Amino acid sequence: MPHEVHAVVAAKQGAPVELQTILVPDPGPGEVLVAVQACGVCHTDLHYRDGAINDEFPFLLGHEAAGVIESVGPGVTDLAPGDYVVLAWRAPCGSCRSCRRGRPWYCFDSRNAAQPMTLLDGTPLAPALGIGAFAEKTLVAAGQAVKVDPAARPEAAGLIGCGVMAGYGAAVHTGGVGSGDTVAVIGCGGVGNAAIAGASIAGARRVIAVDIDDRKLDGATRFGATHTVNSRGTDPIEAVRELTGGNGADVVIDAVGRPETYRQGFYMRDLAGTLVQVGVPDPDMRIDLPLIDLFSRGGALKSSWYGDCLPSRDFPVLIDRYLSGRLDLDGFVTETIALDEVESAFDKMRDGQVLRSVVVL
Ligand SMILES: [Zn+2]
Ligand SMILES: [Zn+2]
Repeated sequence: MPHEVHAVVAAKQGAPVELQTILVPDPGPGEVLVAVQACGVCHTDLHYRDGAINDEFPFLLGHEAAGVIESVGPGVTDLAPGDYVVLAWRAPCGSCRSCRRGRPWYCFDSRNAAQPMTLLDGTPLAPALGIGAFAEKTLVAAGQAVKVDPAARPEAAGLIGCGVMAGYGAAVHTGGVGSGDTVAVIGCGGVGNAAIAGASIAGARRVIAVDIDDRKLDGATRFGATHTVNSRGTDPIEAVRELTGGNGADVVIDAVGRPETYRQGFYMRDLAGTLVQVGVPDPDMRIDLPLIDLFSRGGALKSSWYGDCLPSRDFPVLIDRYLSGRLDLDGFVTETIALDEVESAFDKMRDGQVLRSVVVL
C-alpha cells in the first residue's frame, strides 16, 4: 500500500511551492523507504522551483536530509529498518565508464528509486536531485542512504548531503588543499563556509574569506577563516596577494559561480595554483580571459561536482568530525522551520539572511 504523506511540491515554474499530500510506494527491489527527520533548504531547490534546472514539473523538492530507514525492498542487505542515514544524490552505479575506471566519485549513471512518487491523481513527481525529502517519507535507491552515527542531530547531519559536502570536498578533494597551503574562498554562504572549514581541517596555513557582505565575513571566521576581504570596497585580487606575500593563493575556491568571481579567482592564484569552481553559474554566463594568461599562469582550473565525494566513504567521516567538535555543522543551521515554511525560507535565502533554514519533521 502506498503511503499518503505531506510534501512540498513545486507545481509550476516560478509559482510559490505548496504543501500537498503525495503517494510514496513501498520499496521495490534495491529501494528503501526513509522517514525524513530533517531537510535543509538549498539554492538548488529554489532553482528547480524557478525552472532554472529543467521543466519536468511538478517537482518534489528537498535533498539535504537525514532520517531513519522505515523499510527496505528485496535485495537490500546492508540497510535495515531503524538505521539512521543521510541521503546522497550520488549513488555510484558500479558499471558506468567512470565507475569501471575506478572513479566512482564521478559516476555518470548514479542510482535513484525506480518507482515514482506521485500526486494523489497519479501524476508522477520529479524528485529534486533524485531525492525529494521535503516530505514525511521518501523513496530512494538503497545506495543513496548512507548510514552515519545516530548521535548526530538530524538538522545538522542532513546538511552534509549537499551543500556542506560540496564545499568541503571542493577544497579537500577537488582542490587538494594540503598542509601549509594558502587558500582563498570567494562567497561565504553554506558552500563557501564548508570550503573554509575543509581547508582549515586539511591544514591550510591561511584561509582568506572573500565576500561583499560583512555579516557573512564575520560568520566565515567561525568556520576557520584566518583573514577576511570585503570585495565591495577593496580589489580582492590585490588583497589576497598582499595576504600571501605578494604571490596569490595556492588554491582558490569560487563558491559563487559568476564571471566576475571566476575572473577574480583566476588572478588571485599564485603561479601554478588551482582554481576550483563549485558555485553553479546561470546557463547564459560567459567568461572572457586572455588565452596567454591561461598558459603563462599555469596550474589547474577545475570544476567540483558535489565535492567529488564518495558518500559511503565521506559522510561517516564528516559526521565523526562533527561529533568530535572539529566540523561545526551546527554553525550552518540558522533556523529550524516547519514543512509549510519552505517558501518563506526561499525569501530569506534570497536576502542572504540565512546559511541554512532546516525543515524539521
Ligand atoms: Zn557509475
Ligand atoms: Zn543542494
